[in-house]
Amino acid sequence: MSGGRLDGKVALVTGASSGIGEATAKALSAAGAAVAIGARRAAKLEELAEQLEKAGGTALRLDLDVTDEQSAAAAVQRTVDELGRIDIVVNAAGLMLLGPLVDGNTEDWRRMMSTNVLGLMYVTHAAIPHLVEQGSGDVINISSVAGRTAKPGSGVYNASKWAVNAFSESLRQEVTSEGVRITLIEPGAVDTALNDQITDETAKAASKKSYDAMRTLHAEDVANAIVYTVTQPDHVAVNEILIRPTDQPTP
Ligand code: NDP
Repeated sequence: MSGGRLDGKVALVTGASSGIGEATAKALSAAGAAVAIGARRAAKLEELAEQLEKAGGTALRLDLDVTDEQSAAAAVQRTVDELGRIDIVVNAAGLMLLGPLVDGNTEDWRRMMSTNVLGLMYVTHAAIPHLVEQGSGDVINISSVAGRTAKPGSGVYNASKWAVNAFSESLRQEVTSEGVRITLIEPGAVDTALNDQITDETAKAASKKSYDAMRTLHAEDVANAIVYTVTQPDHVAVNEILIRPTDQPTP
């Protein structure tokens, strides 16, 4: 592929086996970037890699469990070793295990915090020295509207996304003068498999009902926002994008 706005760039996308990560991998590839795609479900990644390559792109499949620091570090290292560099990191791996705090499921809490927060931090920790060393690059962290608000039934998910926002802003201040850009993407409801992972059946039904009641965003809408961000000139840093469905009045 040639003539794309991201020709010569290398992106690593976590959570690339589904939803926002998958759509972002496709969009970055269509714009000319070589894309390393990471997640736990190898068969899904295989399918995506075939699609990207068929369309003329370059794809590297990574067995990645972001909750495992060694796995995160190895994914970044393989990207650099096999694709030659790393310019764009999209932290899209995540879980939204909704449920009440009172008598809440603490295993859900551990899974969410270790994926949404520590996982994103591990991948970023491994990648950021490469970006600082080359004096350029983008880290795109997928937070949520839930990172700006809090509501009952969503407490630990809210906490995980508030943590992403704080981490991203602190990192932005640390590396922006090195030429590295940090962007927070905060979507409202997006039509993906996110609700399917919820273990609390009442919370799952309520969340699905609220999604069904509106014209949700598509994963491609969020991917477009990411492509917009990473194709800005070097002196322009898009720090934050809040993107809701038009039909979503509430947080
Ligand atoms: P999906 O369920 O469609 O995708 C989630 C992705 O995360 C999958 O590719 C999954 O891959 C990956 N993942 C989960 N755990 C791990 C892990 N331990 N290691 C590596 N990858 C993992 O949901 P979305 O695309 O919607 O979610 C992506 C992000 O967007 C999340 O952070 C979510 O909070 C955020 N978001 C989503 C919204 C929505 O309405 N959909 C709204 C706002 C934010 P695998 O299982 O193969 O490992």
